[in-house]
Amino acid sequence: MSQLRTVVAGAGGRMGSANIRAVAGSAGLELVGAVDRPGTASIGKDAGSLAGIEPLGIPVTDDIAPFLDTSDVIIDFSAPAASVALARHAASRGLVHLIGTTGCSEADEAAIADAAAQGARIVKSGNFSPGMVALAALVEKAAAALADYDIEVLEMHHNLKVDAPSGTALMLGDAAARGRNISLRDHSVRVRDGHTGPREAGTIGFATLRGGNVIGDHTVILAGPSERIELTHRAQDRTIYANGAVRAALWAAQQPAGLYSMADVLGLND
Ligand code: NAP
Repeated sequence: MSQLRTVVAGAGGRMGSANIRAVAGSAGLELVGAVDRPGTASIGKDAGSLAGIEPLGIPVTDDIAPFLDTSDVIIDFSAPAASVALARHAASRGLVHLIGTTGCSEADEAAIADAAAQGARIVKSGNFSPGMVALAALVEKAAAALADYDIEVLEMHHNLKVDAPSGTALMLGDAAARGRNISLRDHSVRVRDGHTGPREAGTIGFATLRGGNVIGDHTVILAGPSERIELTHRAQDRTIYANGAVRAALWAAQQPAGLYSMADVLGLND
């Protein structure tokens, strides 16, 4: 199989660098372009140098248009508005679009689903680490088995993260809600402050910590009458997400248009 021609979006970001390194080191993908926000510091720089590897002769630009007819895959960990725009471009050419961006609104999610219905092959996940997808499967089972235990999702990230709770925390909350056959939207408690009264039974609570350079720690606590179960994942390197995105790209290239999750990529929904 020839290599999948790949564009990394959000190229100048923390995940952009990890994605450039992962694509450059992958046998199945070839980096053909790198794009970022107009006016941002990475524009014009060599993608390889930016990512801390050898120069690749690929300057970061602010326009995806020239790559649309000459690429197969967009790996995109950027910002919600950018991801929605890229999904529409992906739909116009039937491209594979890996979306790691978090903090998308309901309208953004609807626009991304629409792009998938219009021909894009989208894999969207709040966390591309296979280990985290396995943890979410465990959370779903534990939430179902311990139906009357209180569930709280605790996360900590670096001090530059801009959205909360993290996409991964929401993904874990969703897994717990699925285990309980309830909707997360109607049962989540995102913030507690002041005189909140006692905890409402059946809700899924979130707590957010920010500080230092923590890549991503998540714990789901199931608290029962005389015991507490804690399911924890700690990311030690962004490579786990970038390698997961590469794996998802290779998988999605073989699928029809649609909106997929990392659980689909790992065959957990078969
Ligand atoms: P980051 O360092 O801030 O990188 C984001 C990059 O996207 C920056 O280069 C930013 O440019 C660029 N960008 C912002 N708006 C844009 C636009 N409208 N068009 C094109 N590019 C734009 O953040 P990060 O830590 O790499 O994380 C990026 C996203 O991935 C976040 O949503 C984060 O939560 C998510 N994430 C997901 C996973 C996962 O596995 N799903 C893992 C880690 C992170 P400026 O710097 O100029 O704004």
